[in-house]
Amino acid sequence: MPRLSERNHTMTPEQALKQYFGYDRFRPYQEQVVRAILSRRDVLAVMPTGAGKSVCYQLPAVMQEGITLVISPLISLMQDQVQALIQSGIRAAWLNSTLTPRQQQLALERAGQGAYQIIYVAPERLSLPAFRRFAQQSPISLVTVDEAHCISQWGHDFRPSYLEIADFLESLPQRPPVAAFTATATQSVREDIIRSLGLENPLTFVSGFDRPNLYFEVRESSHRDQDVLETLARFPDRSGIIYCLSRKKVEELCQLLCDNGYPATRYHAGLDPQERKQNQEDFLYDRRTVMVATNAFGMGIDKSNVGFVIHCGMPGNPESYYQEAGRAGRDGSPAQCILLFQRRDIATNRYFIEQGEENSDLTPEQSRMLRQHDLQRLQQMVHYCSTPGCLRHALLSYFGEQSPDRCGNCSNCLGGQAPEDVTAEGRQFVYCVALLSREGRAFGSGAITKILLGTEDPAIDWLRPRRLDCWGALAGTSPAKLRRVAAALEDQGFLRRTEGERPVLELTRQAPSLVSGKAHLIIKAQATKKERRQAQAQASGSPDSPLFPILREVRMRLARAESVPAFIIFNDATLRELCRVQPRTRDEFLQVKGVGAKKAERYAAPFLEAIRAYLKHPSKE
Ligand code: ADP
Ligand code: ZN
Repeated sequence: MPRLSERNHTMTPEQALKQYFGYDRFRPYQEQVVRAILSRRDVLAVMPTGAGKSVCYQLPAVMQEGITLVISPLISLMQDQVQALIQSGIRAAWLNSTLTPRQQQLALERAGQGAYQIIYVAPERLSLPAFRRFAQQSPISLVTVDEAHCISQWGHDFRPSYLEIADFLESLPQRPPVAAFTATATQSVREDIIRSLGLENPLTFVSGFDRPNLYFEVRESSHRDQDVLETLARFPDRSGIIYCLSRKKVEELCQLLCDNGYPATRYHAGLDPQERKQNQEDFLYDRRTVMVATNAFGMGIDKSNVGFVIHCGMPGNPESYYQEAGRAGRDGSPAQCILLFQRRDIATNRYFIEQGEENSDLTPEQSRMLRQHDLQRLQQMVHYCSTPGCLRHALLSYFGEQSPDRCGNCSNCLGGQAPEDVTAEGRQFVYCVALLSREGRAFGSGAITKILLGTEDPAIDWLRPRRLDCWGALAGTSPAKLRRVAAALEDQGFLRRTEGERPVLELTRQAPSLVSGKAHLIIKAQATKKERRQAQAQASGSPDSPLFPILREVRMRLARAESVPAFIIFNDATLRELCRVQPRTRDEFLQVKGVGAKKAERYAAPFLEAIRAYLKHPSKE
């Protein structure tokens, strides 16, 4: 019979949270989710990256009898999760194809004897006979589906193997409660999860998507390499991720950073698996602190001390952006999310959508709709890059959440420059396009700009542009400003650019509202270098205590000795708490937020010693 000792039936969720994870307080929704699971309800929890979803199923796993199965998409990362659990004194294991058949058999035997409280498995495993036999004979108290949006064909990470989960659940003699977790908020994905997993009357929790510790910045950048270098110089010892749109760019940028002395490494789907694994580990273990990668990198990466995420290129939709950017500051420390934007990113993404692989599970009609949907999401992403309003507000509105108009922690709120009303210029532009279209003609924005500025150009002489009453209507305006007006007209949906080799501008249905004065055209004034610096300085919070690097060294030493990533010992937020509290005794150490019982037992001595030494000879502040 399974061994079911060591369960703590008498502990409250709060006590278990402190005991195993060292936290005194639940984050929003964690407690509700834990209690729902303990009451044996099905659960769907939608919480943003970094909100602390793992705790929601790991706590019930240690508080209940039986085994918690966690279905998770990426085998490479189960190992980290399991390592972290073992560090916290929780009996955990993973089962996947990287084990030899003999190891798999042994693991299943041990699992059958009740050796583990939590077992991580990849969805592919659910249909294997040996695994099914094990599951049918074992007391499964909870099935957790992590990254549950992978079950949705409308989501951005569809994995057909997730569709096997429902069948697996049905094969069990007694259906355990099922808890599904995702960071993807859209209603259609949520409905897909409930239906495809067969969740029964689930309690649904949708937590706020705001991550107040993240600073958001968008910068239109014509020299991205230089901007990346400049940004890195501001975070000398921080760990960070730089996302690029292509493998080639990853290679180039990684080389450039290495040439400039940064400990950078790279990740994309074109590298062989061995190198990918190695580079990912170098990053997790802080041997290389900067990861340059395509969007292939990151799912399941729980490195909590990522201080910045730079996007060297605009991603295709706000979901991807928020998920990737959200890998910064998971431990709650201030972190920066910077997007370096160029207008040609729009065309690149459009190309990705239009040339994307056909999904053989979809009908042509579904494929067409999906593409349409993707183009709309791209438009929303362009809006994020061009809005003069609060960036956080733009993201949260996209996710259907109310928020204040100004957050005070994004480049638009802190930029100190008022948005610029260019309705008058926009109106002239639209008027010119309309005038020409009445003659059955259409042009690109370059020609329209010349007409409005009254610039002579032999290439359009044949049109006799001087006869048009908008000729020279905006003479004296800078061509750069008119270019931004033209871009804004497109981004905000007053003009549309045709497809093809020689795209021209057309009016949209919205265009008349600009001419009639109902709509306004507002653009973002461009921040100067100085203004940008000020905003960033304001966003990065107070500087770290001189004790911080000392404790980080201690952590690094311990991590090396135990061959685990440093953040698994303690995350940066916990180190900062240690700097603030400066505990002298083991009891005081245990009181610190982020220190659980097991970790206090193991690590109090070396940290207390370092703090004592520091207090005797504090370095100058
Ligand atoms: P998610 O899976 O939702 O992206 P994680 O489960 O990886 O988030 O948690 C993110 C970070 O937050 C981890 O470092 C975790 O230890 C920390 N964390 C989780 N719960 C709490 C809490 N109640 N108080 C403080 N930190 C927490
Ligand atoms: Zn803001």
